[in-house]
Amino acid sequence: MRIAADLHIHSTLSPCGSLEMSPRAIVEQALAFGLDMIALTDHNSVENGFHAAAYGASRGLSVICGMEAQTVEDVHLLCLLPSPSAAAAFYRRIYPHLPETANNPAYFGDQVVVDCADNIVRVEERLLLNSLDLSLGEVTALVVACGGFVIPAHVESRQYSLLATLGFLPDELAACPLEISYCTPFEAAVAAFPALAGRRLVSNSDAHYLADIGRARTVFEAEGKTLAAVFQAALAGRYCVEYREG
Ligand SMILES: [Zn+2]
Ligand SMILES: [Zn+2]
Repeated sequence: MRIAADLHIHSTLSPCGSLEMSPRAIVEQALAFGLDMIALTDHNSVENGFHAAAYGASRGLSVICGMEAQTVEDVHLLCLLPSPSAAAAFYRRIYPHLPETANNPAYFGDQVVVDCADNIVRVEERLLLNSLDLSLGEVTALVVACGGFVIPAHVESRQYSLLATLGFLPDELAACPLEISYCTPFEAAVAAFPALAGRRLVSNSDAHYLADIGRARTVFEAEGKTLAAVFQAALAGRYCVEYREG
């Protein structure tokens, strides 16, 4: 089956995410843009994913609970969990590794957990836009232990990326799908970083505003509408990447 997926979306819980990005609003916008599967990937948190998954289930949209982890190397890693309970187990292991620095909302932005009816559940006081004291390998191992999958995020970008920040493609991540930023043509990424040649390159929106959801999407030919089936398709090369005009 054809699954149009955007697996990198920020919500109100990311300090850099717009306050219009409630779980309900994200799901409705994703449906309006014709997506079949999305992942909420806030910085170092999964909490709004629970609400988006519940609302998505009521609206027929597959919502993956995820996180854009920032590792101790300052690299962004999309961590995608197969169920809300797996995401909760993963998050319990991650949160103690986030520095206890308080968020300054006036500077970084608000970090708000919002339920399916757009009510504010709570405000996250700890700054999420920070590096965990866990390495790439340690975060990846935790994701895998919880039954999930990783996609190194925007691997060619100048900041928080495998290739520009870390400077190389670690063997244990080379076989993963690798995300190229929505704004970078694949040919340009490969020209800049020859290590990307022959890899499984995907793209997502990295949306922080509703209008940006699905601006890049990866369309998989998968055997089911599950995270595992989508990853199987990714590793087998059964997908194409599409961009929305404008
Ligand atoms: Zn990022
Ligand atoms: Zn992001």
